[in-house]
Amino acid sequence: MRIDLHTHSTVSDGTGSPEQVMHEAYEAGLDIVALTDHDSMDGWGEASEVASGLGLGFVPGIEVSAKDRWVSIHMLALWPRPYDDDLTAMLAATRTARLGRARQMVELIAVDFAITWDDVMEFSGDAATVGRPHIADALVARGFFASRDEVFVDVLHNGSQYYVPHYAPDVRDAVRAIRTAGGVPVFAHPAAHARGRIVPDQVIADLAAVGLAGLETDHRDHDDVARARLCDLAGKYGLVTTGSSDYHGTGKPNLLGENLTSVEAYEALRAQRG
Ligand code: AMP
Ligand code: FE
Ligand code: FE
Ligand code: ZN
Repeated sequence: MRIDLHTHSTVSDGTGSPEQVMHEAYEAGLDIVALTDHDSMDGWGEASEVASGLGLGFVPGIEVSAKDRWVSIHMLALWPRPYDDDLTAMLAATRTARLGRARQMVELIAVDFAITWDDVMEFSGDAATVGRPHIADALVARGFFASRDEVFVDVLHNGSQYYVPHYAPDVRDAVRAIRTAGGVPVFAHPAAHARGRIVPDQVIADLAAVGLAGLETDHRDHDDVARARLCDLAGKYGLVTTGSSDYHGTGKPNLLGENLTSVEAYEALRAQRG
């Protein structure tokens, strides 16, 4: 069984439509795939319909933006109920904040690189959730950089002079809201230190106590040391370990199925659905 529990579409910062991502997942030989766009469930309908036509197992998911004080955290929510009021309100607040934040970043960037908000909207077009990768696309289209990755290195990284943070819920509240909505929370790339600050062991212990179900240990942003640390923590706190691609289409080198989740881990998570 090939199971990949973390992918993105044009609903957030992936480059393929939900339909395309499902076709690509099928072509990549996956048996089960989750669509986990940032802060939105808008891709679920299209993706689940296409997946069922292909005989592909589909898991509805979200990558929920959250934070522990100033440290940004991404929390996967697998199988939450789509119409839960508290969770949908939490996501809506984040999407609104992301929009204002993206406009602020574009204003700062425009001083040094000639781009406009319209340029960014060309790439964020249909997206429910706007993110830095859309700004990157505009800078690439204007010829300032060759790829999203290059823009992140020079302009969009967390320590950049152009970086503006956005509101996101405290991660404990996010875990509780996901559980209340019947979802299963899995901490996405918890040790991806190249992206910015990561949380210490104590925060993972705290999260386990409020309902965290799993840790995404196998992810391309984790080296062997990070994976070993996370496996240790998972054992200590009774958490399930997962692996996934964090596929973003052509926007990132990540390939569907490059990391996989075991059937045992998948069943252990699925058994926790509310
Ligand atoms: P945001 O959600 O707007 O804060 O932007 C974070 C998103 O940017 C992540 O979900 C990734 O999709 C993408 N990202 C983060 N770091 C990089 C990087 N170094 N290169 C390319 N994309 C990145
Ligand atoms: Fe992303
Ligand atoms: Fe993420
Ligand atoms: Zn992701």
